Amino acid sequence: MQNLNLIAGSWCPADSGGTFPVLDPADDGLVAEVPECGIAETRRAIEAAHAAHPPFLARPAAERVDMLRRLSALMDDRVDELASILTSEQGKPLAEARGEIAYARSYLDGAAWEAERMAMVEELDPERTGKAILVRRAAVGATAAITPWNFPIAMLTKKVGPAFAMGCTMVLKPAEHTPLSALAFGELCIEAGVPDGVMNIVTGSPEVIGEELMGNPLIRKVSFTGSTEVGRILVRGASRNLPRLALELGGHAPFIVLEDADVELAVAGAMSCKFRNAGQACISANRFLVHEAVHDRFVERLVEAAGRLVVGRGTDDGVDIGPVIDDASMAKIDRHVRDALDRGARCELGGGHVHIDGLTDRFHEPTVLTGCTPEMLCFREETFGPVCPVMAFSEIEEAIRIANDSPFGLAGYLWTSDRDAAIRLAPRLEVGVVGINDPSPVTTYTPFGGMKQSGWGREGGRAGLEEYVPLQTISIGPTN
Ligand code: ADP
Repeated sequence: MQNLNLIAGSWCPADSGGTFPVLDPADDGLVAEVPECGIAETRRAIEAAHAAHPPFLARPAAERVDMLRRLSALMDDRVDELASILTSEQGKPLAEARGEIAYARSYLDGAAWEAERMAMVEELDPERTGKAILVRRAAVGATAAITPWNFPIAMLTKKVGPAFAMGCTMVLKPAEHTPLSALAFGELCIEAGVPDGVMNIVTGSPEVIGEELMGNPLIRKVSFTGSTEVGRILVRGASRNLPRLALELGGHAPFIVLEDADVELAVAGAMSCKFRNAGQACISANRFLVHEAVHDRFVERLVEAAGRLVVGRGTDDGVDIGPVIDDASMAKIDRHVRDALDRGARCELGGGHVHIDGLTDRFHEPTVLTGCTPEMLCFREETFGPVCPVMAFSEIEEAIRIANDSPFGLAGYLWTSDRDAAIRLAPRLEVGVVGINDPSPVTTYTPFGGMKQSGWGREGGRAGLEEYVPLQTISIGPTN
């Protein structure tokens, strides 16, 4: 397993020789030590990315597309190894880790596919403009990526795919909990023939590395996935050099089940979009708003299905829910559950920790709470845990009002048998992505991003690529 940093095509330790530990969230066992890099190493990585950009952009676009496809194929060849690294540092069940790697590959393949079809230069109609005007897409240059721990490899390829496809280079700072998946990806980059300096990876203090990435004028774009709180810090940092900024921040997804919904389908959807990754996803359903006519049946079926989930170590066979990432995450889940119960919610399933011999206290029972209200913490902030807070409603207007009563707006879900009504309702949800009877509305082909405080910019699809290639207009007057 790689435990050095990748700068300008070489694997290197921190200048100080310092390291920090990566621990398995299931048992706090030491997985690896990685370099504690600082300003000097980050600066070298930025300079390498800056220097590598012109020659990389000068290569034929088809070469970069082939390179992405080679990288994707290598990930497929190494899926077991990558999944085992991912589970050891992140905790998710191995089957989910494999699923994340397939999903991560789709962002490399999808970017390659889009890049092959994207028109990079357009000529405006001279009859209308009175002169020749070209509008072209200009690669921004060296970029920075700051990625989270919940999907350490998918959130990385979501940025790498479009960047490489568009001829941009990158300095990546992975999350401190999960740097090993990123370093393993760095090894594959070398194997796939990614030129030196095109992909650089630095690990260490987020504040120190983040400060240099935001403050260095050679970085022309920063793409971040993480909390709204850190997003604000980055916006402040960006005020100096004004890099382009893409921010994919927190969500608080409403999951609305209408009176005419197929309850079995809605429960199956709730299971996948709530309990995947132990509820630690920015598009996880966070607030279940269920019409009173189907409420009791929905809850009964949800309790049955969630009650069958197996909580345990991600490497054990048959496990559905692994540990949450750290003690602070567990404390937040506890706070949300306690607050809901104190304010009158009923616990229909779970509600507590699962104690497993020899493992940490980060395993939470799948939990279903009913009688929830908009004042409760679980209805105000992202829980990031395997907890379903349910509230009954009688009028759809009330459900829409509650759904939109949040500063966040990333994903939202509607469950109904009336497709046309759902299509009329969906635009009223103040979110970037709506799933109608669809618990997984995010694919490599779909523009994904938030409204309100869930962020700026889009990743995925053509929109994701366009973020790396702002428009340049060339207006041509007469030569004589
Ligand atoms: P989460 O709440 O999901 O842990 P964070 O927003 O804290 O999300 O982390 C997402 C990413 O942002 C991680 O790579 C983390 O190291 C990084 N990060 C945290 N604080 C800063 C900072 N001040 N500057 C730059 N990056 C940061």
